[in-house]
Amino acid sequence: MRSFGSPTGSPVFDAVRVPQENVIGDPEKGLRVALGVLERTRLGAAAQAVGIAQGATNYANQYAKERITFGKPIHEHQGIAFKLAEMEARTAAARELTYRAAAASDRDEPGLAKLTSMAKLIASDTAMWVTTEAVQVLGGYGYVSEYPVERMMRDAKITQIYEGTNEIQRIVISRAMR
Ligand SMILES: Cc1cc2nc3c(=O)[nH]c(=O)nc-3n(C[C@H](O)[C@H](O)[C@H](O)COP(=O)(O)OP(=O)(O)OC[C@H]3O[C@@H](n4cnc5c(N)ncnc54)[C@H](O)[C@@H]3O)c2cc1C
Repeated sequence: MRSFGSPTGSPVFDAVRVPQENVIGDPEKGLRVALGVLERTRLGAAAQAVGIAQGATNYANQYAKERITFGKPIHEHQGIAFKLAEMEARTAAARELTYRAAAASDRDEPGLAKLTSMAKLIASDTAMWVTTEAVQVLGGYGYVSEYPVERMMRDAKITQIYEGTNEIQRIVISRAMR
């Protein structure tokens, strides 16, 4: 059975009249309003990415304690242990940057766009890397849909795309550095 992570559709607005009291910002300046909203909402994608990364790390870590090859749990093979260590460390780093950006958003700090873009970029790239490693830790079971990590890998991918693709985040960050 196919599972849907995000039931997505396109709303269409045709000749809609907006009552004066419902207008947000100045007419003809909507793009600025929308971009201002994105400065904060991309933190949601960052937080989602951190959650996916931690979930994949936890699942792979538990699996590695139970799966035996060559007479011992794969957790005790250094090749797997080092992967798990790096998954945990990179996820922790992504979480701290996301918290830092969320605190800046709460305080309305200057330079917010750069910080939230950095959090979204790092958290989503981390989730993609971590979930790909989680699939590897589970071996063949990582790839099949009976186990959750292949789905986590697909869910991680969308965090690199929506709320502004990661290419666009790099543009926002580099512009703020000029
Ligand atoms: C599951 C899902 C849910 C979504 N939910 C929402 C939602 O709730 N609200 C909403 O508004 N949108 C939503 N989207 C749309 C999403 O935000 C867009 O798909 C995303 O912004 C990328 O736009 P695009 O698909 O038009 O890609 P394009 O703009 O066509 O980009 C294609 C590729 O080119 C790159 N690219 C484009 N321009 C540049 C540039 N100047 N420099 C470098 N690289 C560039 C992009 O990064 C990307 O890799 C959703 C999409 C999906 C798949």
